[in-house]
Amino acid sequence: MTKKIALLAGDGIGREIMAEAVKILDCLRQDFGLNAECEPAAIGGAGYDQCGQPLPEATLALCERSDAILFGAIGGPQYDSLERELRPEKGLLNLRSSLALFSNLRPAILYPQLADASSLKAELVAGLDLMIVRELTGGIYFGQPRGIRELDNGERQGYNTLVYAEHEVERIARSAFEIALLRERKLCSVDKANVLEVSELWREVVIRVAADYPEVELSHMYVDNASMQLVRAPKQFDVIVTTNWFGDILSDTAAMLTGSIGMLPSASLDQDGKGLYEPVHGSAPDIAGKNMANPLATILSLAMMLRYSLAQPELAGLVETAVGKVLDQGLRTADIAGGGASIGTSEMGDAVVLAMRDPG
Ligand code: NAD
Repeated sequence: MTKKIALLAGDGIGREIMAEAVKILDCLRQDFGLNAECEPAAIGGAGYDQCGQPLPEATLALCERSDAILFGAIGGPQYDSLERELRPEKGLLNLRSSLALFSNLRPAILYPQLADASSLKAELVAGLDLMIVRELTGGIYFGQPRGIRELDNGERQGYNTLVYAEHEVERIARSAFEIALLRERKLCSVDKANVLEVSELWREVVIRVAADYPEVELSHMYVDNASMQLVRAPKQFDVIVTTNWFGDILSDTAAMLTGSIGMLPSASLDQDGKGLYEPVHGSAPDIAGKNMANPLATILSLAMMLRYSLAQPELAGLVETAVGKVLDQGLRTADIAGGGASIGTSEMGDAVVLAMRDPG
């Protein structure tokens, strides 16, 4: 059956990196039998410019009827003075909540060729490949009540509420177990069950769900220890599942282990595996339009799409291997060149396509 992919390039370097991802998609369709049709739509500042809204209705409708969405980046200084509801960022936030994308996948992959870019010793991180599955629509960022109130003595007090219902824990746990099945089958659930009741329930539900996944080895870790282990011995992890709050912090730590924002893909999935795939970085107005952006985070996001939403693990592997090959050839965009020789955005995209077609 033909799969439908929505292409939302967005603003700034979004357009340049999306053009490279489209080259890869075209190659997959022409040479490797990918049965997919792609349709572009405007979002972010581009949505505002074209339709007066950061998430135009037609774009949302396209995303709703698509199997997966590939997203570039949004934002730019020309939109900073707009009222909050019209700003580009609101387009992405509204899209995530409209599609109920509760499972946020943030891999930290360090190609051995780039190990020197990490702030950790190369031997600790070379070949790192871990996945953080972060709950994205619940927890303390959404819990009620919240606010700043005045106490009887006139002092102000800020408060937030950390809540997780069983069904929220169950669905993120299932999502993480399913992902672990596609990887090394090791899942570490990160909580703070020694202090928080909400974590106690979290752990209980994760253990209950584990009964349906006997092939996956489950472990538990307190969040303070997890943050330490991530910088001490990150290669011990395969998949980590955790709450919105802990995941926010741990995924940034894990991302920085790799040292390069231009290499980091991500995904957000719904209950049925439909997903929004995007590089972790933003629209980089400082280098937009200069053919300098690294397209590999977007190309690796496309590989994630093939694996997690389109059930094409071989094609995902093909793209990831091709990225490894171009790095082996010494090809680098400026952000990963360490001051050495570099190539442009479109040359990098072309090199990945050539590497995909190269049988060697
Ligand atoms: P940014 O990620 O756009 O850029 C940070 C730095 O990293 C810049 O120096 C940039 O040149 C560099 N960089 C980013 N991506 C790169 C790539 N692919 N190749 C080479 N270098 C790259 O973050 P920022 O500067 O804080 O934000 C710029 C705009 O992007 C803002 O409007 C912000 O709101 C928006 N933003 C959007 C997203 C998103 O679309 N999901 C995420 C973060 C920021």
